[in-house]
Amino acid sequence: MNVVVVGAHQDDEMSSVGTLIKCVARGDKITIVSVSNGDKGGQFDPSIPHEEISRIRIGECTAVAQALGGNYYCLGQEDEYIADTRETRDRLTEILRMEKADLVLTSPLNDYNPDHIITGEMVYHAVMLTTVRTMTWEAAPLTRTPAMYYMDSTGGFGFEPTDFVDISDVFARKLEICALHKSQMANMATFGGWDLVTYAKVTNRYRGLQCYVEYAEAFHAEMRWPRATPYEYLPKGKHPDLR
Ligand SMILES: [Zn+2]
Repeated sequence: MNVVVVGAHQDDEMSSVGTLIKCVARGDKITIVSVSNGDKGGQFDPSIPHEEISRIRIGECTAVAQALGGNYYCLGQEDEYIADTRETRDRLTEILRMEKADLVLTSPLNDYNPDHIITGEMVYHAVMLTTVRTMTWEAAPLTRTPAMYYMDSTGGFGFEPTDFVDISDVFARKLEICALHKSQMANMATFGGWDLVTYAKVTNRYRGLQCYVEYAEAFHAEMRWPRATPYEYLPKGKHPDLR
């Protein structure tokens, strides 16, 4: 499968990185997209120019995509000012078509940051537009609407999972990939009081506790037409009795 994860910022994909590792293991191709340039993410040292932080974060997210053997796109909107524009909707739709997306992951529509919410809304629209044959760009329209799942909210607030992925066996690798976001390890320690590794240890353990495994990532399926699907897209394991 072709899996595309779209976040507002370089590090938002961390909510699904254990799942992405499992997708790679089953042969999937991964694409990571950031809508913003991430230029406000230097709170650990506000003297660093915005352009420099943006360059660092794009480099870090490129490294994450490379660690997963995938592609990375940055759509370049200004961090903390993401807007639902015709240009960005079209670009998201074009990327989903170019990458022949089967499965799309994005931020939930009630997350803490409007950048996340607007990104989720634009992705929701772009997923549908992938198959609209009267809207044409370079890449051909898809023949099947990709399945769409929302990643966990920041802190888990207001997020009701419909699906869990057991990431216990790849959790150590997930932490290594989290640490590739070196600037955001420092940024979030300043902004949130935790770094990305600490955050994953707590939230993935909690989601694991909910579904009786050690570590898990939580997702919420978007079931509005034509995104609903009768097929299994997430790398979920078989019941132990069926192995
Ligand atoms: Zn973010």
